[in-house]
Amino acid sequence: MTERSTLKVLLIDDEPFMLKLLGHTLATVGLTAVTVCESGREALEYLDLSSYPPDLILLDINMPEMDGLEFVRHLAKRQYSGGVILVSGENERMLQAAEKLVQMYKITSLGHLQKPVTPEALSKLIDKWMPSWMIEPSSSALKIYNANEIKAAISNNELVNYYQPQVEVATGKVVGLETLVRWHHPQDGLVFPEQFIRVAEGYGLINALTRAVVDAAFAQLGIWQNNNPDLMIAINISMDDLASLDFVDYLAAAATAADIAPGDIVLEVKESQLMKNLSASQEILTRLRLKRFGMSIDDFGTGYSSFTLLNNVPFNELKIDQGFVHGAASNDRLLAIYNASLTLAKQLNMKTVAEGVEDWEDWNLLRSTGCDIAQGYFIARPMPAEKFLDWLSSWQANVEAALNL
Ligand code: C2E
Ligand code: CA
Ligand code: CA
Repeated sequence: MTERSTLKVLLIDDEPFMLKLLGHTLATVGLTAVTVCESGREALEYLDLSSYPPDLILLDINMPEMDGLEFVRHLAKRQYSGGVILVSGENERMLQAAEKLVQMYKITSLGHLQKPVTPEALSKLIDKWMPSWMIEPSSSALKIYNANEIKAAISNNELVNYYQPQVEVATGKVVGLETLVRWHHPQDGLVFPEQFIRVAEGYGLINALTRAVVDAAFAQLGIWQNNNPDLMIAINISMDDLASLDFVDYLAAAATAADIAPGDIVLEVKESQLMKNLSASQEILTRLRLKRFGMSIDDFGTGYSSFTLLNNVPFNELKIDQGFVHGAASNDRLLAIYNASLTLAKQLNMKTVAEGVEDWEDWNLLRSTGCDIAQGYFIARPMPAEKFLDWLSSWQANVEAALNL
């Protein structure tokens, strides 16, 4: 059995009384290295700042503001590799459904506990489980960087854009590329956005980061358009970018400077971020659309938007989240969400992009359902700018035969 006192535990519940009670129960079963947080947000801040993630998280699923399930989604984003126990006063069915969701995010669920939690029930769950680092000593938990390191990376120009091609499903034609930022870390090598974007957003660095990405992407597109005038570029922007009043003017000026039409630029905003602060950003979104920038709603299906909301925001493209694309052809639940997203987009006259197209099955699904654009490993992985033209010529030379078009 694991030496319980060495396990790092994070306890999240909005009721101070519950925190006390649960803390006491944890101590009773030998779990003494416990940190408590009163909200999901506080817990995320804690996770972003601490150098070692907890081994175990006890999570109340009913919390105001950020509920437990939303918190789990953030955990998944951070590639949390420890275990989770859901705690709630809800009935058994509700807890089971919530636990399924945790597993869907590929997070280890030890089980769920109904309040009031007894030491016996808690012990039983812990006994069955081994933290991942005990099974695999060199587990590759991704390092998350802190704000100072990220700030330095931006000012030392260590951020580099990678680009992932997007192709028209009906013709195989390459229509554009999504810009995906990477960090060429002088010691650690290639660092991925999951390891720094969240912290950049949380510490007021995202505006500077976005501008570095935009400037490089526009300049690059300007070069590519010399020979491929129809190419478009997509850029991920964060909700905090939209909070800055001069963002529209900045983008318009940057496009002009690089001699690119705003219509060749697609700004991707995540559905989950959007729904949190819609009214504040609606004006900026509308102004960007008025200037003819393309607006895409990213990771569709992972947020909670309603028909009405979608109808009120001026988006012209919808990106179905990869979680509902890859494998959807052979999974009824995924397929239902994929189809619903596609139908919704078409009814609202939005262009549809499916991300996470990884194999033939995924590609055929897109073809048979009339999705407009495909992006994913099946077509190409994100690549540095200097690889793109070579990739493009071999794609163009082989596409018809390869895809049976
Ligand atoms: P995203 O916008 O949803 O980007 C798609 C992610 O899926 C990328 O991960 C991409 O490499 C990966 N991907 C592409 N094709 C496939 C596939 O077929 N299968 C699978 N499993 N994955 C695929 P990446 O590059 O690690 O970026 C992760 C996230 O970081 C992005 O998710 C985006 O939210 C964020 N991000 C990237 N660049 C920027 C940026 O410049 N600014 C901001 N604010 N966020 C960025
Ligand atoms: Ca994106
Ligand atoms: Ca996505």
